[in-house]
Amino acid sequence: MREDLLREAEAQTRETQRKNEETVLRRRQEIYEKYPEIRTLMEKRENLIYGSILDMLRGSGSAEDLPERMEEASAKIREGLKSRGLPEDYLSPIYDCPLCQDTGVVGEKIRERCECVKKRYQALVREAVGIKNDGSETFEAFRSDLFPDTMLPGSRNTQRQQMERVRRYCEKWANEYPEVQTRDMVLSGKTGLGKTFLLHAMANRLIQRDVPVLLVSAYSFLETARRSWFENDDGLKELMETEVLMLDDLGSEPMMQNVTTEQLFNLINERQRAGRATVISTNLNEGELKERYSERILSRLTDGRNCMFVPIQGQDIRNGRR
Ligand SMILES: [Zn+2]
Repeated sequence: MREDLLREAEAQTRETQRKNEETVLRRRQEIYEKYPEIRTLMEKRENLIYGSILDMLRGSGSAEDLPERMEEASAKIREGLKSRGLPEDYLSPIYDCPLCQDTGVVGEKIRERCECVKKRYQALVREAVGIKNDGSETFEAFRSDLFPDTMLPGSRNTQRQQMERVRRYCEKWANEYPEVQTRDMVLSGKTGLGKTFLLHAMANRLIQRDVPVLLVSAYSFLETARRSWFENDDGLKELMETEVLMLDDLGSEPMMQNVTTEQLFNLINERQRAGRATVISTNLNEGELKERYSERILSRLTDGRNCMFVPIQGQDIRNGRR
């Protein structure tokens, strides 16, 4: 849990409650001014309650028939509103979340955080991680039918079948992490094969499961690495320590003598040693990765024990639509 975002989610919930209460007060004021007859009915209903309490205190009369009389009075108010073209529940309390009535907590004996706060919290985490909140970057929204159903060269699968398999693999991983075969994963393939989409869908699922995740582009990783190298900035610490790190588009960042390779190796190596997962997407294949980043980085990414290397073949679906 990120405490700052949790506080923010709770504040949003309180704000919702405040706004709804304000709306009801405003409506009440409006009715008082426009329809004195309804105001009279409302005052009568309030007097019923106070009257009964007073009676009870004095020991005279009982409140037995109070609920009935209250309901009668309420019915009159509803009728009054309706006959003036207003909704019957115009003066009733408004709740965005009926479960907790916008208090953010549920439960009588054991007070628990309400689902609506959790939802708000997850939306804030998504925003912070850089994932859309409209559900468009989820496994459910993944469209394998956009990929051609033609055989891949040297394979027994069509491109569509391959994408289905990769999607299932990624989804299973995101559902089961940390109980997974390999904590690290590389999605390797040309541009436009859905790698970034899959990364975002995985991050989304992890967020739903409250697993801490960070998503950064290789470009911004290099920027952080450079600052850490030359300016002693400790931005890399966050990348080292997050439970799951997703590194998008490795290979698109500029190559800086020493910094890129050295810091990338440290990142992968340190995280593997600490048992933290790193998921990478790259346009480069194994040969290109080796050439650009050295043998020792490639072997970390392809050892099959710590890291699963997932090659994705086929043609770009972003332009031309086949
Ligand atoms: Zn709620």
